[in-house]
Amino acid sequence: MQHNKQRVVIAGGGTAGWMAAAAFTRLLQDRVDVTLIESSDIGTVGVGEATIPTLVYFHKLLNINEQEFMAATHATFKLGIQFEGWRKPEHSYLHAFGNTGKPSWACGFQHFWRRGQSLGIASDFGDYCLEGVAAKAGKFAHLPHNGLNYAFHLDASRYAGFLRKLAEQAGLTRIDAKIDKVNLRPDDGFIDSLTLDDGQHISGDIFIDCTGFNGLLIEQALHTGFEDWSHWLPCNSAVAMQSEIHQRPQPFTRSVVHQAGWRWHIPLQHRMGNGLVYCHRYMSDDEAISQLKVSVEGDALHEPKLIRFQTGRRLKQWNRNCIALGLASGFLEPLESTSIHLIQQGIVRLLRMFPQAQIEPSVADEYNRQSLNEIEHIRDFIILHYYVTQRSDSPFWQHCQSMEVPASLSHRIELFKQTGQVFKQGNELFDDSWQQVMIGQGLMPKGYHPFADTLSADELQDFLEHVKHDIQRKLAPLPSHEQYLKSYCQ
Ligand SMILES: Cc1cc2nc3c(=O)[nH]c(=O)nc-3n(C[C@H](O)[C@H](O)[C@H](O)COP(=O)(O)OP(=O)(O)OC[C@H]3O[C@@H](n4cnc5c(N)ncnc54)[C@H](O)[C@@H]3O)c2cc1C
Repeated sequence: MQHNKQRVVIAGGGTAGWMAAAAFTRLLQDRVDVTLIESSDIGTVGVGEATIPTLVYFHKLLNINEQEFMAATHATFKLGIQFEGWRKPEHSYLHAFGNTGKPSWACGFQHFWRRGQSLGIASDFGDYCLEGVAAKAGKFAHLPHNGLNYAFHLDASRYAGFLRKLAEQAGLTRIDAKIDKVNLRPDDGFIDSLTLDDGQHISGDIFIDCTGFNGLLIEQALHTGFEDWSHWLPCNSAVAMQSEIHQRPQPFTRSVVHQAGWRWHIPLQHRMGNGLVYCHRYMSDDEAISQLKVSVEGDALHEPKLIRFQTGRRLKQWNRNCIALGLASGFLEPLESTSIHLIQQGIVRLLRMFPQAQIEPSVADEYNRQSLNEIEHIRDFIILHYYVTQRSDSPFWQHCQSMEVPASLSHRIELFKQTGQVFKQGNELFDDSWQQVMIGQGLMPKGYHPFADTLSADELQDFLEHVKHDIQRKLAPLPSHEQYLKSYCQ
């Protein structure tokens, strides 16, 4: 059956807009005409440089050559995030991308580890995760059968440029102009067209709102509504600053606590990305800027940029003929580098549900239901870091420790505390990560699964040693991350 081409209009050319543009042009080639409108006068948010492993699969879907991508975006490999001072001052742990230890059919590895710990024969939980140990050793290589899970640190503006090239090669039309007006159809309130400041009218069938925090289409025109989550995720500001790199790029992001939030350090091939996230009820902008400047090791490449945000989600990601992606759809906060992941999930979901001739409300409802499920799981995971802390050394951390958290998160914490059990819910993103972060933050289960008692103490010790030995065996031949980058990104 012959379908007319759908006219897809993407408003905004940040990471969200260009990821969507590359995906639609490359994967829906004959079915869509894609136009992207961005305003170089307005610019992009300019941050968002740490990712999680799902991006590897997104690139595979788009048939992107990894070496070309890494060379173009000056990317480095990322094996996890090192959380410094989150449990208490001077303590750090790594949330790594792999699985920890070896589970049995009856229960997860944490039960064996917990018993080993009570017997004094287990070391740090992180010592049993290949990716975590490789990150600390500063090593990296691609291993057969995805043997080492990884993501990337990338230069956001170069990434947008890289994707733009792919999309334009595949036939995308780009317009550099400011959208002045969103015109709605009088009969059903769907978006009909966009009026640009150069006088053009751009009509479309489907509009993708990637205009950032403003949500020009989804909120300002369609008044979709926003659910505020700042009572759970109180940080609402960031200052960001790039600096010269003067040490070997480590294959992990650093997340370092301060008295009113945390800061990130992201190593790229050519520079560092740094930022300080804070709640401005507890810290002034001037204080944030001066703390960031003091913490940055290399010379600054520009003055710090201040960004305000509100954590929460758009009530509908898909409203009428508009789908919001990226910051226009809501924002958790950057702690677990999940925003780019949510963009790609939105794109893939939309590709799967791509409307034929007309938009069925049931399809939009299903899209919104899946999006809500997904973001709520990630929200809970991020709140966990703030809530489960032994820090009470500032009003901000006292607030975090004592805040009420969503019932879904209380349940998980209680289950883990009492039994050490963690169950993955539906298609949720995080799995082993829950154990890693709960234990890393100092939440020790009272007990463990009786199955862990089926081994004698000697057998358990052998088992735990075997896991570590296996990690060392895999790690020994790996080059340093720096060496590997040099040869891979030539
Ligand atoms: C402090 C901070 C740190 C972050 N760190 C991470 C991280 O480490 N990892 C991660 O995954 N995510 C991170 N994020 C989120 C990430 O930055 C975004 O998800 C990503 O950059 C996508 O942004 P965007 O494309 O939605 O918006 P933007 O980059 O803001 O792009 C908006 C686009 O819309 C255009 N536009 C707006 N209004 C108009 C108009 N009227 N006319 C025409 N064009 C218009 C702009 O010109 C721009 O092109 C972070 C976010 C913040 C705030």
